[in-house]
Amino acid sequence: MFPDPPTNDPVNGLPSDVEVSLLTISLLKQYTYCPRIVYYETCTPDLRPRTYKMLAGEAAHQRERERATRRTLSAYQIPEGERKFDVRLSSSKFGLTGIVDEVVLTEDRAFVVDYKLAGWAGENHQLQLTAYALLAEEAFQRPVKEGFIYLMPLKRFETVPITTALRNSVLETIKAIHHIQLHEYMPPPVEQRRKCETCEFRRFCIDF
Ligand code: SF4
Repeated sequence: MFPDPPTNDPVNGLPSDVEVSLLTISLLKQYTYCPRIVYYETCTPDLRPRTYKMLAGEAAHQRERERATRRTLSAYQIPEGERKFDVRLSSSKFGLTGIVDEVVLTEDRAFVVDYKLAGWAGENHQLQLTAYALLAEEAFQRPVKEGFIYLMPLKRFETVPITTALRNSVLETIKAIHHIQLHEYMPPPVEQRRKCETCEFRRFCIDF
């Protein structure tokens, strides 16, 4: 059996005050959807409304978590390995923390798996998965060359290669989020306005 990442609580042995200052990985996903959401999340943290979509997503996630334990590794085309569920990962090196749905460990590799209530693996989902991959590499000391996004409505896995471009994108996004936080900078509204239709912050965006 593979060991868990060193001391999950506080994670990776970080003192709790350090952990508090880490960015949550879901912020990276939100930045890719619309950078302004990161402003609302980090600079006005008491504002966040709860929407039906968010609650439905959480409920679906919980149901999927229960089903996932009954799946075998053949779903990932990995012959042998150990699965760990709801793995908290944190890194002072990357300044990130988050809980990934699954990590699969083999002798010489690790794989990350994220469940999504979505019909496709969007750019934001791939970026989030890559951030988990970076932290899993550090925690388990194994390379993560690919991960999986499980599309719950379709009951289908998408394989995501953890490319150099995606890794660089994670680092760039971290920098951009720090800029928003540090300068309390409100980015312009997203160009694809259809994204606003289901955004929980829609009523706060009064400039369009
Ligand atoms: S309503 Fe639109 S512009 Fe405003 S935060 Fe949401 S997605 Fe971004």
